[in-house]
Amino acid sequence: MFKRILEKIRKKKREEKDYPNRFVKFYHLNKKKLNKERRSSYHDRKKEGTCARCKRKAVEGIVFCEYHQAKQKEYNRKARSGK
Ligand SMILES: [Zn+2]
Repeated sequence: MFKRILEKIRKKKREEKDYPNRFVKFYHLNKKKLNKERRSSYHDRKKEGTCARCKRKAVEGIVFCEYHQAKQKEYNRKARSGK
């Protein structure tokens, strides 16, 4: 029983060494959860009609508010003309 706990601690320490810093470690250990949360909030906002980038009300049929829709259009235009 005690040996098992020691092994767990050792294993944990070994895992910590695999990550350059605790932020990367946190990301790796939580990325599944983080991605899930990100996805659900995107869909929640879409459902609620809230902009995906801010808290303003989204234009009907799209996921952005008027401001971010304009931003997105500008971004797309730049991305296309840049090629
Ligand atoms: Zn917005």
